[in-house]
Amino acid sequence: MPSIDLQVTIVGMGIAGALLAVCLERAGIEYIVLERAHELKALGTGMTITASTIRIFDQLGMLDELHAIALPIATLRYFKQNHSAIGVMDVSPNKKKFGYESLIFPRPELLKLLVSKIPKEKIYWGKKIVRTSQDTKSVKVFCLDGTEFESDILVGADGAYSAVRQSLYKNLLKKGVALKPSDLAPLNFQMHCNVGVATNLDPQKYPILNAPSAELHAILGDTHPYTLWVSVMKNNSVSWTLGGNPSAPATKADLEWEYRSAQGVPQGVRDIKLTIGGTLGDLMDKTKTELTSAVNLEDKLYERWYDGRTILVGDSVHKLVPWGGQGATQAMLDAVDLANVLYELPSNTPAAITRAFKAFYDHRFPDARAAHNSSVTASKLTGGRGFMADLYRAIALTYMPPVLYSMTMNKQHYNRPILSYLPPPPAKGTLKPNPKILSAYKPGELEKLNQRMTTVSI
Ligand SMILES: Cc1cc2nc3c(=O)[nH]c(=O)nc-3n(C[C@H](O)[C@H](O)[C@H](O)COP(=O)(O)OP(=O)(O)OC[C@H]3O[C@@H](n4cnc5c(N)ncnc54)[C@H](O)[C@@H]3O)c2cc1C
Repeated sequence: MPSIDLQVTIVGMGIAGALLAVCLERAGIEYIVLERAHELKALGTGMTITASTIRIFDQLGMLDELHAIALPIATLRYFKQNHSAIGVMDVSPNKKKFGYESLIFPRPELLKLLVSKIPKEKIYWGKKIVRTSQDTKSVKVFCLDGTEFESDILVGADGAYSAVRQSLYKNLLKKGVALKPSDLAPLNFQMHCNVGVATNLDPQKYPILNAPSAELHAILGDTHPYTLWVSVMKNNSVSWTLGGNPSAPATKADLEWEYRSAQGVPQGVRDIKLTIGGTLGDLMDKTKTELTSAVNLEDKLYERWYDGRTILVGDSVHKLVPWGGQGATQAMLDAVDLANVLYELPSNTPAAITRAFKAFYDHRFPDARAAHNSSVTASKLTGGRGFMADLYRAIALTYMPPVLYSMTMNKQHYNRPILSYLPPPPAKGTLKPNPKILSAYKPGELEKLNQRMTTVSI
């Protein structure tokens, strides 16, 4: 049982909010989730996760259900427009080393799986948060429909345009607390994308659908400015992301993932030939309207994650581009660490909460920063054009010594946290995970870790 009685409000039923709810459910901590959508939407395309977070599904007894919706990933391949190979990243050794294969699945399927583990009465749909307030005794959220909710802890898991973050920052500024200029700067909308999932594809037309594992293909245009990502998923479906559409620059309408047809895409783009056979237009024609979105994507790392009884997780503090493969992973790592911290909270006093949030931040921030840096690298690998970008790709994909690649992968997968209050999953993988879960660090140790990582990343 947790050390104390605690009431937690989670804002946002995305991947971070839903996994946190599942973890709190298993911890016996009281919580509710407030989500602005009126129901679970089937929005989003393919999403990838690695051993870093799959271990938690193993611990929660959800590994088989996860495998039922996902396909293992074997390789990431980069191609020129004429389909000549630029380079390849082999992720198939991951299972042996880290215990689990990397997986790709449709985002809505993972969300559906997580939501199925949360009692219905704990989810409040149609609750759009517009404001928050807190004092030493409690924290309150105010919804657009006039309702309010009060609790001991508020978790802002409400995505990149987080209302909880905006309210928190506004209140901090009112109190005279200085925030980093970058925290106050707007998102820069790095790239406009059209995304979709083509379903019911014919394996005879696309023989790659018969393969037991997925290949992620990035096709870099040279006579056109687009980069196209295509990946096979389970059930004869293919996820596609078309990035860098200059004829449809970032607009406010595309801030959020919403149903949006790909009609604005010029005819020439439909003719892009795919490495899996056929053209992008063929895939678009097999993509239902409700499975297409247009969205602005960018990387952004915020430095201020908590104050008082409020803490931010997931995209609300680290928005990452999908082709870095780190968005969902980092959101889930936050959820696991935060669940551990809340379970072990020794008292409900502001001082104890601040200490716990600080430990969480010191543990998570270096990882989030590393993920942010690797996302920026991934953008250069796929989005960059010209001599320098070609050179960069050649170094990263062709000339990087295998030992260096292996070290990078090892570093990325060292943290495979689990919940401190459940029996651990079976030991898997030749590279043992970091044995230290958050609570095992001594006072001051995390702070040093954070400082050390800062120095390294600069
Ligand atoms: C609909 C949707 C589709 C996506 N599709 C993809 C994809 O295909 N590929 C990919 O790599 N990434 C996708 N993402 C982003 C990806 O889910 C995140 O990068 C990552 O998983 C981190 O998740 P998160 O839970 O922090 O944030 P999100 O997944 O963004 O979830 C935030 C949740 O908070 C809710 N919310 C927002 N504001 C409020 C408010 N004021 N009050 C109450 N609730 C609020 C949102 O409706 C959403 O459910 C998508 C995000 C969304 C919301």
